[in-house]
Amino acid sequence: MWINWVIFIGITASFQISHFILRRYKVGMKIIRISGYLSYLCFIDVIGVLFGLHGYMLIYISSEIRLGFYLFALFTFLRYPLYTFFQALFQLAGDFYIKRLKHIRMPTKNTYTQKTEYILPFKGKWTVRGGGMDKRLRHRGSVSQTYAYDFVIMDGYGKSCQGNSTDLHNYFCYAKDIIATADGIVVQVRKNAKDSLVDGVKAYCGSSDIRGNYITIKHNDGEYSVSAHLMPGSIVVEAGDKVKQGMVIAKCGNSGNSSEPHLHFQFQSGKSFFFSAGLPLAFKGITAQNKTNYKMADRRSTENNLQIAGDKVYIGRGLEVYNEI
Ligand SMILES: [Zn+2]
Repeated sequence: MWINWVIFIGITASFQISHFILRRYKVGMKIIRISGYLSYLCFIDVIGVLFGLHGYMLIYISSEIRLGFYLFALFTFLRYPLYTFFQALFQLAGDFYIKRLKHIRMPTKNTYTQKTEYILPFKGKWTVRGGGMDKRLRHRGSVSQTYAYDFVIMDGYGKSCQGNSTDLHNYFCYAKDIIATADGIVVQVRKNAKDSLVDGVKAYCGSSDIRGNYITIKHNDGEYSVSAHLMPGSIVVEAGDKVKQGMVIAKCGNSGNSSEPHLHFQFQSGKSFFFSAGLPLAFKGITAQNKTNYKMADRRSTENNLQIAGDKVYIGRGLEVYNEI
């Protein structure tokens, strides 16, 4: 039965090697370097584990084949810390729940009627590093992240950091104020996560939650915002607190699954990060223009990143944005 072993070692090795190559390729292309990266790779691993565990169901096959499946699952499973793996699994479960079980169609800016007026969640000029209304601009991850944004502060040459890229303090947006995007009530806060390691290339997750430190605010029925990767010790609100638009609530950090300090910000339909739909909401009273030399940081398309409807401004990757007041 040595042939079974050859087959299984072959499958396992080729899976692991292709995963490695993919990872290298993604990093080399600087694609979704910021936060979205994890779920995409995890998705492949979830498939890997399911494939491996599926061997258990094949009770009629010989024991060494089952052992082969088991080893396959184990090797895939070991790649991430357990909590990261389970969060990726939750993201997939949420996707399935929303789209297949509840048959909720993802709202689009043409089908969703916005209830609240929002400003940008920070002061000063920041750059949209990920996210947007059109499919190709969108953030990757769970359903609630469909219209999520990753914001950084960038200089005129596509750089978000000056000097040693392993020092968080060298990133322009690190420790900058994060503000409430509209009035609301804080419904969830996590503040005990440390900042994750930064090496200027890969994303690390030094926290048991991929969001790291985060704040979820309810602004209206079915309209919530989440600010994530916040700086340890910087959160000044508690669950139950009322917040006013523009109020400083935390500082930008690098906690959770993040490759460099940035603000992950999203609107969602409910309190749950995993089981809510992402909302395509516009900002009001803001200025948005294409960031000079954005292509030096990110070669992906920025087409149609700015969509304006009356006084509503829908933003996307490659724009520099700021609140007018
Ligand atoms: Zn993000």
